Amino acid sequence: MTSLTRKIKMSTLHLVLVFALFSRVYVLEFCQNGVSECTADERTPLDGVRSRWNASVSNLRRDLDQFIVSCEKLLEAFPADGADGDSVRTVKNCIFSKSTPTPLRGPLRLAAASQDVIEGILDVDMAATRSDEFLRYASGGRLLPGSVPLAHRYGGHQFGHWAGQLGDGRAHSLGRYTNRNGEVWELQLKGSGKTPYSRSGDGRAVIRSSVREFLCSEAMHFLGVPTSRAASLVVSDEPVTRDQFYDGNVKTERGAVVLRLAKSWFRIGSLEILSQSGEVDLLRRLLNFVIEEHFSSIGSDDPDKYLVFYSAVVNETAHLIARWMSVGFAHGVCNTDNFSLLSITIDYGPFGFMESYDPDFVPNASDGEGRYRIGAQADVGLFNLEKLSVALSPVFSEKQRKEAKTVLGGFAEIYQMRFHQLFKAKLGLLGEEEGDGHLVAFLLKMMEETQSDFTMTFRQLSEVSLEQLHRKNVTQMWALEDLSSHLLFADWLRTYLLRLGRQQKDLDRQRRMKAVNPRYVLRNWVADSAISKAEKNDFSEVSLRHRILSAPFVTHETAEEAGYAARPPPWAKRLKVSCSS
Ligand code: AMP
Ligand code: MG
Repeated sequence: MTSLTRKIKMSTLHLVLVFALFSRVYVLEFCQNGVSECTADERTPLDGVRSRWNASVSNLRRDLDQFIVSCEKLLEAFPADGADGDSVRTVKNCIFSKSTPTPLRGPLRLAAASQDVIEGILDVDMAATRSDEFLRYASGGRLLPGSVPLAHRYGGHQFGHWAGQLGDGRAHSLGRYTNRNGEVWELQLKGSGKTPYSRSGDGRAVIRSSVREFLCSEAMHFLGVPTSRAASLVVSDEPVTRDQFYDGNVKTERGAVVLRLAKSWFRIGSLEILSQSGEVDLLRRLLNFVIEEHFSSIGSDDPDKYLVFYSAVVNETAHLIARWMSVGFAHGVCNTDNFSLLSITIDYGPFGFMESYDPDFVPNASDGEGRYRIGAQADVGLFNLEKLSVALSPVFSEKQRKEAKTVLGGFAEIYQMRFHQLFKAKLGLLGEEEGDGHLVAFLLKMMEETQSDFTMTFRQLSEVSLEQLHRKNVTQMWALEDLSSHLLFADWLRTYLLRLGRQQKDLDRQRRMKAVNPRYVLRNWVADSAISKAEKNDFSEVSLRHRILSAPFVTHETAEEAGYAARPPPWAKRLKVSCSS
């Protein structure tokens, strides 16, 4: 084992690592505390995402004036932009610019709030969200005690090309909050007005995109996918003009602000801009900060620390994209500025959950060439990680540059291994048998050819009994009925049943499969009807969706009545989402 491998191994949790020895690539797996997440077919995604507020929490804050955030660490660590004000400009030699949110024009309404975030992360009593104070804090009308609002300077590769300075054009970082568990969360407002990075934009976000970000980031968390979180959604009457499909049909919509949280909002583009502008000292400072804050097991005096950091991001990004695939999620805009250094899902835009299984599914109507189609996400991840290695090259030695290439060379294998594990769990397969990969690939091919629904095929396979499967009795199970129309279905089923026959009792299989195959995801048509109502100030459907998607692995009567697990209505296919938000 090389010393680099040892370091990576010591420094990362649940890590799959890749190292080169005699020009062969080896993949190792290990998990902390001997708990093998990586091979644990029995692990449910809910293990990590249990609702925080179910635990009885006392001393929740009611007085928001006592809710204090801190900006000192960021301001001490980095030079702030010398210029003041929000005039659009090219910014150099800083990570942040001071920028004040522009209050949303009232009347303001609270469209949604996440109890799991408000109480479970922010230690605030939900009752406090019903106050006018909260509306103002959560929409940029009043600053939290301790807040020095900042807009982050970053760049990025957009649709394959270097786009130069981007930065937060409509998001303000309010500061960091340390909660009762000692976790540090960075709070942001999105849609809170212009910053030096707004370019030609108005700094606002409309209701439809804000409802989608609120619902989807919360839904992803409860699906077990690493993500930013959303605390609240405030809507206003402020007119915002948008040409939704870039076809000249300009409409007046209304502004909204999401209060969102992440352990860090730094992205690949945060490093790229520094590297591209030759600001190498600042690049090193930002890297040291991120490593110290979020990769605490990497030693600050380790001469390979940037390489170890890079390996961790490669590994975790492979895991993240495999998770996206396991729930049929297409991000929609996988630019380097939308790829987090902590490998969490950020910047929800024209995302989509695939309905009929189709590797060419493109959620974003503006992505004509399908660059970010669901089946290309791993390739795009590789592209983005290559850009990250380019951004890091000024701090790498020649030898480290070569080693970074080797690390990146292991990405596909890590991704495929994780994908295989996740899909094996989706099929309820325990252990490892030779034909398992084939069983998964065969099923996906049949799903593609029969256009079977991705979510419900796996869900119904979880709910159907072995006895029913033996009798090929899938009536009343619409997705399985579609699948069973395939000529080779009986062949696949025979192999699957033989494989299942060699393991535990059926009830156990069903329990495991139901815990990894959701019954509900945020289908576009489901989001759409909630948005239409929200635009008329009726937030009941947003709140219903939010409740259902906070427990997507159990059956909800109201969701069933509304048809969320039924065959999507024919008009659902005609819905489009674009980058305009
Ligand atoms: P996104 O597609 O939301 O990730 O945004 C890409 C870039 O455009 C980021 O720098 C955003 O901050 C910026 N941006 C998007 N919409 C607006 C807007 N309405 N006003 C200002 N900046 C925006
Ligand atoms: Mg973005």
